[in-house]
Amino acid sequence: MNTHLRTYFLGKSIERLAFLFLLPTLLSGTCQTPIAPAVSVDLPQGPVEQEQAIVTKQNQHDSIPVKIYSKEDLLGRFEPSKHPDFTVIQKEHTGKSGIYMQKEAYDAFQRMCAAAKKDGISMVIISATRNFDYQKGIWEKKWLREKYKGMSERDKVADILKYSSMPGTSRHHWGTDVDFNSVELSYWESGAGAKLYTWLVAHASEFGYAQTYTKKAAGRTGYEEEKWHWSYMPIAMEMHRQYRTTIQYQDISGFSGCKEAANVNVFETYVDGIAPDLLPE
Ligand SMILES: [Zn+2]
Repeated sequence: MNTHLRTYFLGKSIERLAFLFLLPTLLSGTCQTPIAPAVSVDLPQGPVEQEQAIVTKQNQHDSIPVKIYSKEDLLGRFEPSKHPDFTVIQKEHTGKSGIYMQKEAYDAFQRMCAAAKKDGISMVIISATRNFDYQKGIWEKKWLREKYKGMSERDKVADILKYSSMPGTSRHHWGTDVDFNSVELSYWESGAGAKLYTWLVAHASEFGYAQTYTKKAAGRTGYEEEKWHWSYMPIAMEMHRQYRTTIQYQDISGFSGCKEAANVNVFETYVDGIAPDLLPE
């Protein structure tokens, strides 16, 4: 992980810690010495309960409290417009209506976007949170492509997986991942696209963002390179860690070809198929 990203992580961790220690004082309305909240390991069942069950388990790596995500959050089985952690993306940042991100990730995006603008670079969000049902819509449409007629399920799955995730396995479920400007490869090769990419490589980490699907030559598996797809790492890395300890193959179901998930090693090859320095430790 590069230095900017590491510094950003540390800043966010200190903010969370400060909030937790101040919470009892804020709630009681007194000025007594703050007391750390009691440790609880109850797993929340849904987004609302989860919001209330803030962050009480210790992260084994750095002893910073972390939030526990529900299976529904990790699999995208929720409605972003009704989720307390999510906010709608304003018109000035997207041409789409009714698309959502996690609030913290969107705040960081807005700071990044403003900084880019000062450098004469414009970026818009063309895709953000896609829940399970939305991803299933993309998947099923591709499944019916004319060119797949007569092909085995395994081959269809492998072909769709070049650029699209299986429902239940996409980072776009998490509200931390966004696609910028264009998903056309050619856009990023010259002109405004190349300029934006160069700027993002130089500065995105100062705002907690990183390119997830980098060149495969660097030892990454899974999806092809995507210069448009960026992750807000302070939340995404923790969600990835919890996804890999919580989600099993039986959780990947409810769409065409879902039985192939284990055959294509979707967790190891695709969910973990990101830039190696972005993997949870
Ligand atoms: Zn994407």
